[in-house]
Amino acid sequence: MKIILLGAPGAGKGTQAEVISRHLNVPAISTGNCLREAVRAGSPLGLKAKDDMDNGRLVPDDVVIGVVKDRIAMDDCKNGYILDGFPRTVAQAEALEAMGVEIDRVVDLEVPDETIKRRLSGRRVCEGCGASYHLDYKPSKQEGICDSCGKALIIRKDDEPATVQDRLDVYHRQTEPVKAFYSAKGKLFQVEGQEKVEDTSALVLKALEA
Ligand code: AMP
Repeated sequence: MKIILLGAPGAGKGTQAEVISRHLNVPAISTGNCLREAVRAGSPLGLKAKDDMDNGRLVPDDVVIGVVKDRIAMDDCKNGYILDGFPRTVAQAEALEAMGVEIDRVVDLEVPDETIKRRLSGRRVCEGCGASYHLDYKPSKQEGICDSCGKALIIRKDDEPATVQDRLDVYHRQTEPVKAFYSAKGKLFQVEGQEKVEDTSALVLKALEA
């Protein structure tokens, strides 16, 4: 099964992508994580992406499309995958179609902007391995330290309040039209994000079976 998870930054796409990944036994591909790894590694891709990412803007379509094209050609994607954070523009959705990719379902996680702002202010990420935590919803065992690798937890530069507002504006302007693109094809399933992660997961898994 090939699934797209849509939703504003901080809507919980990453967490739900992991849940679906375990449920269907297919990889979850986060373009945000791919790009952050490239930035950490200082690769040419990372150098191209860093400034846009730090300032809450989208990385150019051709750059991200190249990342996804390479990733879904890998062996572990033979039986399907979950795209988390891609496509984020109609041009990216069209590029996916032009690659001959047949998407089965598009799940859109609906979360109000005010909830997003509250959630992102508590998010922390590991500077070593990139694992994601939340002060209220998913605290690390030891404050400020990653459970998996023991490195320090930091606030993502793009989770700072001013940048969060910019990312939400970008989402409404550039990514929301992607919903209409898939809705017209009868592939869009909307799920209201719940307070508890597991309640949202139950609705997401139901949407996959519908
Ligand atoms: P995320 O972790 O999904 O919120 O992504 C973090 C940042 O990576 C975004 O704010 C963008 O700058 C960049 N990014 C991730 N996915 C895409 C995409 N599909 N198109 C453009 N930029 C992206």
